[in-house]
Amino acid sequence: MSTTPDIAQQLRVLRENYARQLPDKLALIEQTFRNGDVDGELQNLRFLAHGLAGSGATFGYPGLSAAARQLETLVDGALCAGRVLNTEENHTAAKLVEALGHETRTPVEWIPTPALPARVTPDAARKLIYLVEDDTELALDVALQLGHFGYTVRTFETPEKLLEAPADDSLAVVLMDIVFPQGELAGPEAIVKMSAAKRLQAPVIFLSVRNDLAARLATTRAGAAAYLMKPIDIGALVGELDELVRDHPPEPYRVLIVDDNGPLAEHHAFTLQSAGISTEVATDPMAILAHLDDFKPDLVLMDMYMPGCTGAELAAVVRQLKNYVLVPIVFLSTESNTSRQLTAMRLGGDDFLTKPIAPEHLISAVSIRLRRYRVLRAHVERDSLTGLLNHAATKDRLATEIARSTRQGSFCCFAELDLDLFKQVNDTYGHLIGDRVLKSLAELLKRRLRRGDIVGRIGGEEFGIILPNTKAAGAAALLDELRDAFSQVRQYASIEREFTATFSCGIAEYRGGSSSNDIYVLADKALYRAKQAGRNRVMLAEQ
Ligand code: GH3
Ligand code: MG
Ligand code: MG
Repeated sequence: MSTTPDIAQQLRVLRENYARQLPDKLALIEQTFRNGDVDGELQNLRFLAHGLAGSGATFGYPGLSAAARQLETLVDGALCAGRVLNTEENHTAAKLVEALGHETRTPVEWIPTPALPARVTPDAARKLIYLVEDDTELALDVALQLGHFGYTVRTFETPEKLLEAPADDSLAVVLMDIVFPQGELAGPEAIVKMSAAKRLQAPVIFLSVRNDLAARLATTRAGAAAYLMKPIDIGALVGELDELVRDHPPEPYRVLIVDDNGPLAEHHAFTLQSAGISTEVATDPMAILAHLDDFKPDLVLMDMYMPGCTGAELAAVVRQLKNYVLVPIVFLSTESNTSRQLTAMRLGGDDFLTKPIAPEHLISAVSIRLRRYRVLRAHVERDSLTGLLNHAATKDRLATEIARSTRQGSFCCFAELDLDLFKQVNDTYGHLIGDRVLKSLAELLKRRLRRGDIVGRIGGEEFGIILPNTKAAGAAALLDELRDAFSQVRQYASIEREFTATFSCGIAEYRGGSSSNDIYVLADKALYRAKQAGRNRVMLAEQ
């Protein structure tokens, strides 16, 4: 795999622009150096050298970076001692400025960013499930139920039929029964045969009424990804399928790049994008708060020296905001002075990467922190039963979305769902079965909503959904479809005891001027009316 053409092309353009601007930059450095003893010019020289040191190697001038860094260090030494350059330093600096001129004329050959893991398989193409089950009624039922969760199921009556089926690239998971008329372990035996013939790439989940060691051993030898007991708990099965089908987090990681050097920031952005990370660039450090709220980054990549404030100061500000206490802040700077690095970390940074940085190194350093952050954030924000956002996090998100809608003049809806007569479900089938119903609804919502929609569990059997850029009518249609789908999901209390559950829903639309609290209350009132009107329905708020 190599960098996708458009990213390579964009990188090439950045590089050409950089090369075009170099002569002017160089002239400015020469001029500043000649004015060396004029007040303030030495600081300017340090600043200019710093800029070249950070960007040169990134755009194909490693020698330029090296010379600029030496110049920066030299000038920094004098400035820290509170004096101008002495004769010897002046001589060295002149040599370095000359070297800069030479280096700007000798770029290294450009080789596009190397093999980076790109996301190739779209989710949708990977949701085909094979189900091998001799009980045709059960097979049909599972196929229907999984259909509600966005899976397509193809059924086979016997393991032989599976063996005869031509290979299909979009196959995601095989669901395999164990006992068939052909044999007590015919299921796992067929899988072993297929694997030996290298005819099976997809993971296998076994489904069986058998719970003995012989059966379990046979399935582990066949490389089982999971083993579920019948009667099939559809919520648990969907959970397993989601785990297997999804090899990356549901939303791409987001990195906010704060750097006043636009081209360099863009370069880092493209590098990260080539690894499937989405990015936003803030070249004005003073605009960081709006970027945080709008983009909700999973990590901030921050330059150290910018006009207006330093990266360290900015990190300290970010740490004062409750919503962003956990977001990793990684400094990307030419700063090699350890004590200054430590000061920056004390103010709220998490790590220091030194410019220039190789693309692979940037991607891996950032990816590690992104993964860890998502896990950590999940612990703080997520409800453990359903994996959805908890009440506090949902309210935070609603407030953020309303603020965004106000700023952008866009639409937004909030839907509140409450399971109908849920106390009866618990009383009739027990609390554990009730929990499964909650999970199955959570799974359905996760599966069926669009990216960008936000779902939370806001109470015991209450859920909240934020639908950005959606008008009331669209929200009502969507929720009604979900209501209908959920009412058809068969819930199992035991092998021969099945039932269905329903929910009621109230929807409020954001209108200019209303607060998130207003919307919450409006949705709640609409939900109450839906209950009054007989449950299992969706009502719009009277606005
Ligand atoms: P309505 O249609 O009016 O909403 O009736 P209801 O029975 O759903 O409403 P009510 O508020 O009387 O009861 C809510 C029930 O939800 C009571 C409680 O046992 C159940 N519940 C709340 N949280 C959980 C949970 O985490 N697990 C389970 N199994 N049940 C829960
Ligand atoms: Mg309730
Ligand atoms: Mg209820």
